[in-house]
Amino acid sequence: MWYTKKLNIFSHVLTLSRNQPHSMIIFLDLPDVHVEEVDVAEEIILTLRTISPTASCPSCGTQSSHIQSRYRRTLHDLPSGGRPIRLIMHVRRFFCKKNTCAQKIFVERLPTLCHPHAQRTKQLQEALCQLGLRGGGQAGADVGSELGISGSRDTILRLVRQLPPPVRSEPHVIGLDDWAWKRRLRYGTLICDLELGLPIDLLADRSVETVSTWLKEHPSIDTISRDGSSEYASAIKKGAPQARQVSDRWHLVKNLAACVSVQLTQSLTELRRTEAAATANVEQVEQPSGEPQSHPRTRSERHAQQARQAERSVRYEQMTSLQNQRMKSAEIAAVVGMAERTVRDWLRRGDVPYSGPRKPRPSLLDPYKAYLLERWHQGCRNGAQLERELRAKGYKGSQKAIYRSLAALELFVSSPSRRSSVLTSEESERQLNPLLALSASQATWLFFRKEDELKAEEQETLQQLRQASTSLETTYQLAKAFLHMVRELTGEQLDEWLEAVQASHLEAFESFVTGVQQDKDAVLAGLTLPWSNGPLEGNVNRLKLIKRSMYGRAELDLLKPRVLHRSKQNQERKDKSKNKNKQEQQVGRLKKAKRMKSSTTSQHTTICISKVA
Ligand SMILES: [Zn+2]
Repeated sequence: MWYTKKLNIFSHVLTLSRNQPHSMIIFLDLPDVHVEEVDVAEEIILTLRTISPTASCPSCGTQSSHIQSRYRRTLHDLPSGGRPIRLIMHVRRFFCKKNTCAQKIFVERLPTLCHPHAQRTKQLQEALCQLGLRGGGQAGADVGSELGISGSRDTILRLVRQLPPPVRSEPHVIGLDDWAWKRRLRYGTLICDLELGLPIDLLADRSVETVSTWLKEHPSIDTISRDGSSEYASAIKKGAPQARQVSDRWHLVKNLAACVSVQLTQSLTELRRTEAAATANVEQVEQPSGEPQSHPRTRSERHAQQARQAERSVRYEQMTSLQNQRMKSAEIAAVVGMAERTVRDWLRRGDVPYSGPRKPRPSLLDPYKAYLLERWHQGCRNGAQLERELRAKGYKGSQKAIYRSLAALELFVSSPSRRSSVLTSEESERQLNPLLALSASQATWLFFRKEDELKAEEQETLQQLRQASTSLETTYQLAKAFLHMVRELTGEQLDEWLEAVQASHLEAFESFVTGVQQDKDAVLAGLTLPWSNGPLEGNVNRLKLIKRSMYGRAELDLLKPRVLHRSKQNQERKDKSKNKNKQEQQVGRLKKAKRMKSSTTSQHTTICISKVA
């Protein structure tokens, strides 16, 4: 662990005699300090005295040998062998000899050992600080106490707050991304140096004012990668007009995926509607056969149910995507055509509630079905005759319902062989249609992966999907062409692509194309330059983790040092892997896609998009 590598100052204390283990000690690190006494009990207490003949005034720097007085100062240090160490320092006050100096008397400083006025050595402070950065206040104090490092939660938090930001060279290429203090309510901004892949600052919000002010303080910046938001675009225009704006590829692909998903939702819902209409007929005709409810469900019922469930998941995906666009539940309800309460309920659940088999709608014919069936078995097939008999028994429903029921009996109360022969081949094909079980996100994911990375059955499904309608085939070709630009950085094909979208007349792409047109220079840069917000994504995730570990008590003064100070080991690891991957950076991003698996949830899709982009 890290603390064992950190030698405290007394690891240089040497024991020279075996019989008197603590009698002779040499201090190597502090040449101007003399050890007067060592007391080893449960605590190690060292009494020290400063011996340098002079000290320099902290105000004017003049050396002085004129001692005014002495006093005792107590310092705590890192433990040794599990025992806490306390230093009792005899330090001196000096007169400043310079007449013009405002400071007449000063205390000699021990810059290698501790900060002025501190009660802990620098190394102990550093250890507590690291505990605070990695684990937070209370967790840091708990771990510290296990290791014999004393420091309360408040001390640790104070040290973390006081930590100056890490020293970094002025950035040239940065990425901006937002992160949620509280989803849909309050957002902050994370800024990363994209050349180093390191977070360099954390801003309290994402307003034009805050971001542009920060940018003005860093005139060295010449390239800025950002998402498609107009806020950041305006902030950059205001604060860093010299910088080239790069629209982040991850966000581009994510937005494209949203459009493709809408198109697929429309197409799949259409397919489902056709299927549902056909199934509804089948269900209605099956009822009069008098099959008990517990009978195993037929394939068509199963498919219809899958379709219903798939439609629900499609709607749910639509809801979450609208929610991500910060729409209110009332607005979402209006768009997806559902009750606001249901929308809120589903979003709170975080998934799609399972829809069981649908209960047949009650019909006025229900009480007479048994009679109808009985007469039918007796050989009476005459609709008019049966209607008269039913009306005599009190039936008040429509004639149509009776005829529909008779037609159903014609089809289904016959032998299974007859039943299957009645089904057209087209119908059986439709019943086996695997597309109906696909959610829009699964279908989108099929579109977004490279064809040679798909399994055989996935390739088959993709083929079927593309053949299902011309709009689906066009959608596929458009998505593929855009992803090619993203992967190969061939932004010069953008105009051609935009023309192709226009020619396709696909409504689902409209919002995406409008967005691209409005931000064309940045999109072009994103599809040409190697920069993207990739490094930010990981840092935003790390930030979220830290924020959550602070149980909502995180404020910027504490969150910022914890995000900006990364452990040295972490940094070394990062540098190592960076050097290793430098040459493969372009190819590597695409190779990563090979490890991707098909996903069922939209969150997973979002993660996977980052691998594509
Ligand atoms: Zn002075």
